[in-house]
Amino acid sequence: MHAGDAPAAGATGLLCYCRGGFEPELAAELGERAAAAGHHGYAATERGSGFVRFLAPGADAHALSRALPWRSLVFARQKLRLLAELDGIDTSDRVTPIVAALQAHAGSAAFGALVVEHPDSDAARPLAGLARALGNAIRPVLRKAGLLAAKDDPRKPALHVCLLDGDHLLLAVADPGDASPWPMGVPRLRLHRDAPSRSALKLEEAFLVLLDEGERARLLRAGMTAADLGAAPGGWTWVLQRSGLHVTSVDNGPLRQHVLDAGGVDHLREDGFRWQPPRALDWMVCDMVEQPRRVASRMATWFREGWCRQAVFNLKLPMKKRWLETALCLDLFAREAGRPLELRARQLYHDREEITVLVLPARG
Ligand code: SAM
Repeated sequence: MHAGDAPAAGATGLLCYCRGGFEPELAAELGERAAAAGHHGYAATERGSGFVRFLAPGADAHALSRALPWRSLVFARQKLRLLAELDGIDTSDRVTPIVAALQAHAGSAAFGALVVEHPDSDAARPLAGLARALGNAIRPVLRKAGLLAAKDDPRKPALHVCLLDGDHLLLAVADPGDASPWPMGVPRLRLHRDAPSRSALKLEEAFLVLLDEGERARLLRAGMTAADLGAAPGGWTWVLQRSGLHVTSVDNGPLRQHVLDAGGVDHLREDGFRWQPPRALDWMVCDMVEQPRRVASRMATWFREGWCRQAVFNLKLPMKKRWLETALCLDLFAREAGRPLELRARQLYHDREEITVLVLPARG
């Protein structure tokens, strides 16, 4: 038996993290995707909590989890398999009940790593110090009990302890290759002092999260060409420029002078919905603030016409029915693009009321 194989009674399901306020979108996405894959269950969440549980009593948790791969989920920063919920625990000794629950539910093999974290919400943020202290306290105990590998081993499932309150926590498992490698599902990126805007972090995160290391090395190489639609003041252009790409930056607004001075950037004061490149480009990126369907449709034109091989674009979401609009825009894009493409869409940590879509030529 592997670590985390046996589900706890009443806790069969998934635990996913999201941006606070987007729980209804994540709940709708999980419900719809699970049902489409033939799994019945229901989402339990609270608005602003930063997490959603998708509960499927009596289901095969592995099969449910495999039907909803982390990489395919738009609104989930993290996806874990639930093991157990411990509520009302003794705050003077949280370690003993955790070890007991793991011994009862997790089988005998060791987890490859331990992550003690909390949802990204106003209510849970004060638990950061406790999460650190609990991690330090519990790690040696789990190792001694044979529940945690002596050294981190990414080939084994990782144990996540998610603190909801001082006396309330969830135990969950990240399956290797099917979960975010970052605690809380948030990659820590720092804004470079030369970055023209905070938006630069969105494109950096998109490349980090939506491409793997090999893809980044293969697809972002010096000498490649790109267009940046809605480029001002130049954050995304700057990210591409730093990878050595030659960028045509389209925006009526000004670009920061140091970006232009660094070379390899042509600034065109044109309408990003009308401009088309004189020859095919490696990349097109687009951060124009516009109706998401209009953006999705224009992006599809680029692929239908063969103007770019790859793209990253943002879709600004409306205030309501955001999952519906997301699904509709992704469908519209795929239909209008009219060729086999691979779409990877995600609400990134640095995205606010928007999602980021990465498009690659379909594999094979
Ligand atoms: N990605 C940029 C960065 O990293 O600095 C920020 C882009 S900002 C969110 C959106 C930009 O889209 C604005 O500069 C705006 O002028 C531009 N924009 C909106 N509609 C446009 C259009 N039809 N054609 C060109 N640019 C447009």
